[in-house]
Order: sequence, then structure tokens, then C-alpha cells
Amino acid sequence: MPSATMNAQEVRAIWTSDKGSMANETAENRWAKIIQGTIDDIGETAAAKDIDSQKKVESIAIQIALKSIKKGIEQNRPLTPLEDDGMPDIQEWNKQLAAVGQCSWTNCPWLFGECYMYRKIQRILNSSKYWQNYDVFKRQKDSTFVKSRVAVEELASRYVQILADTRLLQYQSKEETKKLLFIEMTEIALWGNATDLSLLANLTLEDLQNLQGREAIQKSQRNIVDNDIDDVWSYFQRTTGQASRQIDIVLDNAGFEFFTDVLYAAYLLDAGISTSVRLHTKEFPWFVSDVISSDIESLFGHLDSSEYFPCRENLNQLVPRLRKFFQSGAITTTSDPFWTTPFSFHELPSKAPTLFKELQKSYLVIFKGDLNYRKLTRDGMWPHTTPYEEALGPLGKQSGVKILSLRTNKSDVCVGVPTQSKVDVLNEEAPGGAWVRNGKYAVVSFNEGR
Ligand SMILES: [Mg+2]
Repeated sequence: MPSATMNAQEVRAIWTSDKGSMANETAENRWAKIIQGTIDDIGETAAAKDIDSQKKVESIAIQIALKSIKKGIEQNRPLTPLEDDGMPDIQEWNKQLAAVGQCSWTNCPWLFGECYMYRKIQRILNSSKYWQNYDVFKRQKDSTFVKSRVAVEELASRYVQILADTRLLQYQSKEETKKLLFIEMTEIALWGNATDLSLLANLTLEDLQNLQGREAIQKSQRNIVDNDIDDVWSYFQRTTGQASRQIDIVLDNAGFEFFTDVLYAAYLLDAGISTSVRLHTKEFPWFVSDVISSDIESLFGHLDSSEYFPCRENLNQLVPRLRKFFQSGAITTTSDPFWTTPFSFHELPSKAPTLFKELQKSYLVIFKGDLNYRKLTRDGMWPHTTPYEEALGPLGKQSGVKILSLRTNKSDVCVGVPTQSKVDVLNEEAPGGAWVRNGKYAVVSFNEGR
């Protein structure tokens, strides 16, 4: 049995061939469906009346290329080097593939294989003439956001209420109230992550609303299996005099989750916790629902639409306020090519030294969601009681990076559970490792990098 004190090198990363794992389930059942979704999406766009005829012709070749990826997955073919599409990262991908060695779709390191799949889709689009900037997942992202209408309105109303009560000002001196508000807002950003489209695409409208409603958020606090929120608050208390307090949020999903992230950023500014917030997006469509830069304008477009959101009383107060944060530069957005590589974050200091230095300077780096968590922990099969700091490897002890993970558990890795008896209770409560995978449990894990 692996011990809780083993180092990163000794812990194997999860493979898609590991029977009974989420990795195996994903590779065997979900990947082909995701590719089919892209084929259908291209078909739907190409069928529009007003589409350029050459673009339409090219869509056929793209669909054929996508079908070939799908077939490769279904037949478990070997992963082959990516063909050049003129982008500078191709060489690094192929070097990494060579380092993994011979492998196939259902017999490869899960993290590498899944990232490789999204890069392979993008390679096809990059190599096209008319579809280079096309977001093959936009349709899916948009449709799910619309389904979150009730939850969006509920949160807008909640935030407007917070502002109207001037609770932020009124209770300046009441630390306990400020802390409770911090917990509430953090939990909204945390459980907003439960709507990861690539995992919960099959939920009914009712399910989505139930998961997102405030009542559910309150109930779900008990489902946070590693909860360091008190430590985060005391870190804020200790450092409140610091002049520059930029918080970085490495985003996960567009749509409802992104709305909760923007709201969270606004709250961090309004409450004086941070002096600025920087949002990190992906450079190309990634893991179905991840935020790319065009999703930012999409979000505001949707929030402004009375067709999507007919109930406008609160949104008309909230949305201009959110926009203003972007216009004034209090909230900025950025993107780094490192976020769409197959590397775990253990490789961040060596593969992206400039980004690493920037993150060291940040007041707090918040990593949203499952993939970021997998990358932070190297997708390793750590015992669940492994301290978070240890699983972070080079981003842990003495890294100088203050890291907060807000992640609902949707894959095989989960560390930081305080005791083995707690793990036993969870295994009894959600048998077969369901608590690590079903999105109903979460972590709020913090490390100061000291
Ligand atoms: Mg995602």
C-alpha cells in the first residue's frame, strides 16, 4: 500500500486502462460522444442558409477528419504524432507523446490522452481555411447557460440584496459577518463548478436548478471533504495591509460557472479583499466547456438579453456594475499557452517559468474545477489522506505560490481528506469511490506555499 508520505515521483498517474476508474469510463464511453457532438455541431452550422459555399464545402473535410478521431477512439488505435498546423506548440506535444511511449486511447495516461484529444480537434480547425476561429463547443455552452436561468436570476437577486443592504459597509467592523459572507460567496463559486458540461450534460433542467439553487449550496457544505476555508480567511486577516492584492482566477467552465466566477471577482473587489482580479482563459476550445476569450462577451450578451432573461429587475442593476469592473481594469483577462498543454502543474516552474514568477507575485491564485485540480496533483493516485501541500509537489512547500482549489470532485484523484476514518465514512456514504467522482462532493483546499 502506498503511504501518505511518499513523494510525487513514486505516485503513478492514472491511466485510461485502469479498470473501474473514471479515467477508463471516460475514455471508453465519453470521448467518442464528445467527438460526435463536434461533428453534429459543424453539420448544424454548415447547414445554415446564409453560410459561405466554400466554408460549407470545407465542413465536409472537417467532419471526415473528426470521424477519423472518433473511429480511432472506438477501435483503441495508438496515439500518433500530431501533424503540423503551423502552431508553435506541436513540437512539444509530439516530444511529450514520445516520452509517454507507445500508447493507445484506452491505454494511456488519462491526463495526456484527454488533453491530446482536444488539441487534435483544434489541429483540424487550425489547418482549415474558413473554420480557424470557430468554437466547436459554443452551441453546447450557450444552451446550458440558458437552462441555468433561474439560478442566474436567484444569484443576481442575492448579490443586489447584499449591495442594497450595504452589508459590506455596514458590517465593516463585524468580522464574523464578513467571514460568513466570504464563505457564502466562495461556496457559490465552488458549486457553480458542478455544471461542468463535459460531465453533467445529461442532467435535466430540474437537476441543474436543484444543484445550483442556494438551498442546495447550503446543504452541500457538509460535502466539502477537505475544507480549508478558515485558513484562507485567516490569511486574508494577516495580510490585509498589503498594498497590492491581485487575485488570479484560473477559470474552468463558461456559462453558469463563469457567471459565478465574475460575481465572485466582483465580491472580492467590493469587499476589499482584493485590489484587482485577473481571469485566466484558455487559448482555444478545451474540455468542451472551458472559458475562451470570446465567452466573456457571450456572457454579457446573454445577461443583456431579455429574451434569455426576461426577469430583469436585478440584472439591470448588476450587469452594468460587473461591466464597469472590466472597463475600469479592476477585472482583467489573460491567457497563457501553458494552460492548454498536457503538462501537469508540477511542470509549471520548468515549462512556463515566466507564468510561474507571475503567479508567485499573486496575492492568491484560485484554481477552478476538476482539470486544474488533476493538473495540480499530477493526476496521481495519491492516498486520499495525502496532505494537499505534498500532492502539489513543486507548487507546494516553499513554492511562494498561494493556491486555493475550488473543485467539485469529478475524477479519480482527491487528496487532503483529514483522516482515514473520514475516508471510511465517505466510502460508506458513497460506495465505489462515488464521492471522488459524482460531482456531489468537493474540496476547498488551500496552501500558502511557505
Ligand atoms: Mg472544464
